[in-house]
Amino acid sequence: MQTLPTIQDLPQIHHLIDGQLVAGGTRQADVFNPATGQAEKRVLLADKLTVEQAIASAHAAYPAWRNTPPLKRARVMSKLKVLLEENADAICALVTAEHGKVLSDSMGELQRGIENVEYASYAPELLKGEHSKNVGPNIDSWSEFQALGVTAGITPFNFPVMVPLWMWPMAVACGNTFILKPSERDPSSTLLVAELALQAGLPPGVLNVVHGDKEAVDTLLTDPRVKAVSFVGSTPIAQYIYSTGCAHGKRVQALGGAKNHAVVMPDADIANAVNALMGAAYGSCGERCMAIPLVVAVGDATADAVVAGLKVEIAKMKVGPGTNAACDMGPLVTKAHFDKVKGYVDQGVKEGATLVVDGRGISVPGHENGYFLGACLFDNVKPGMVTYQEEIFGPVLGVVRVKTLQEAMEMIDAHEYGNGTCIFTRDGEAARFFSDHIQVGMVGINVPLPVPVAYHSFGGWKRSLFGDLHAYGPDAVRFYTKRKTITQRWPSAGVREGAVFSFPSSR
Ligand code: NAD
Repeated sequence: MQTLPTIQDLPQIHHLIDGQLVAGGTRQADVFNPATGQAEKRVLLADKLTVEQAIASAHAAYPAWRNTPPLKRARVMSKLKVLLEENADAICALVTAEHGKVLSDSMGELQRGIENVEYASYAPELLKGEHSKNVGPNIDSWSEFQALGVTAGITPFNFPVMVPLWMWPMAVACGNTFILKPSERDPSSTLLVAELALQAGLPPGVLNVVHGDKEAVDTLLTDPRVKAVSFVGSTPIAQYIYSTGCAHGKRVQALGGAKNHAVVMPDADIANAVNALMGAAYGSCGERCMAIPLVVAVGDATADAVVAGLKVEIAKMKVGPGTNAACDMGPLVTKAHFDKVKGYVDQGVKEGATLVVDGRGISVPGHENGYFLGACLFDNVKPGMVTYQEEIFGPVLGVVRVKTLQEAMEMIDAHEYGNGTCIFTRDGEAARFFSDHIQVGMVGINVPLPVPVAYHSFGGWKRSLFGDLHAYGPDAVRFYTKRKTITQRWPSAGVREGAVFSFPSSR
């Protein structure tokens, strides 16, 4: 009989502080393989003292890094891009082993992350500032964008590679130092990427990784040496991060949860819309903040056609371990999350939605203890139902039936979240009206997952984002820098001017 390793035998995931892998903190948490249900590693949970060591390291590294020419900082990003490409298989294997998503999806996440590294390598161009000559007699003025100091990021489980790469590459390319607190549920790939950054030439202390939970996060939120915090995760925690960080005088951007609606108009190409919805609803097991968990079908005939099409496609889907290239969908991330998502399906049935496809109770041969839930499809979901209102973050798609586009838009606007939305239609006027007026931050027109590319910025509206600036892209340059405006005059030798008591102007 095979003997399972005891908890003491499991490999430990360490913190990365001052360029070294170190222990720190007395608490640990299991890291599971969701396809098997087995704990395979233990992650150390940093205590306050450990986080303070990371902050001290970042604080000490800051002056030299701030004064490193932007082009030299950018070259580290260019080297990192190459290392990420060379190590793609190893990184994605770790993502799939701890998150559960299929390998092709891990590759997609890594590629999107690499694009952010690539954009950060343009930092010298992005930091050039603004200059005006002769704003007054012999007076020139310019604005420059200076680093903030020690900055920090707190990231969720669902994109352990991509979301950290939204943050720290641009932060450090702008001259800051950084402390990253990744999700404790799947931290290995995040740590490997940070180790590659050191290999690419990032000096010790410029990027530190501390694993942990609330104790680590609270230390980052309250320490006066940390000047700015980026957060991505669920809305209740985002709100907490925003209010606590702001109360401690920090610049904060906190991206939260989502419940994205896809509108299908009667004139849409239904077959294409159905295919798009399949990937958007069930890709990554629905564990994406840009996933589509709700279809708003305009007209009963549209709804009937969409539901019929989805039923056919769901029947073809293969659910199994993410390492099997034939599988479309892997397991949910943890047993607790599996139970929560299954509970939402039970709730939907109780609330009176029609469960057209029931993915509960599937079993994957050889992976009986994995956290697998098959695709679930509800029809007749209605606003007011918990299934409609709350973020489920699983492979559960609900169809809501409405009569008009206006009714669909009122429903979307009334929802607490405003991360992403999309419309499927052949009517340009309807699409234009929708994208112009809908109260949502990212909009797709016949595009189900309108995730902006690295040189645009990412962010939702309403309770999907607390703060003013969006993540990555041009907004990240603004978030991780302070504008300073300098006005200068060099009076000619020998010219003496009298005191002026009126407010300086060019009148
Ligand atoms: P989460 O909010 O549970 O955790 C996010 C981070 O916060 C983790 O690092 C975690 O350790 C930390 N954290 C958790 N509880 C905390 C507490 N009480 N105090 C301080 N820190 C705490 O989110 P998750 O389950 O890891 O990720 C899924 C959520 O993230 C979903 O709601 C999803 O919509 C959201 N998300 C949003 C975006 C976006 O761009 N808007 C992107 C990805 C994920």
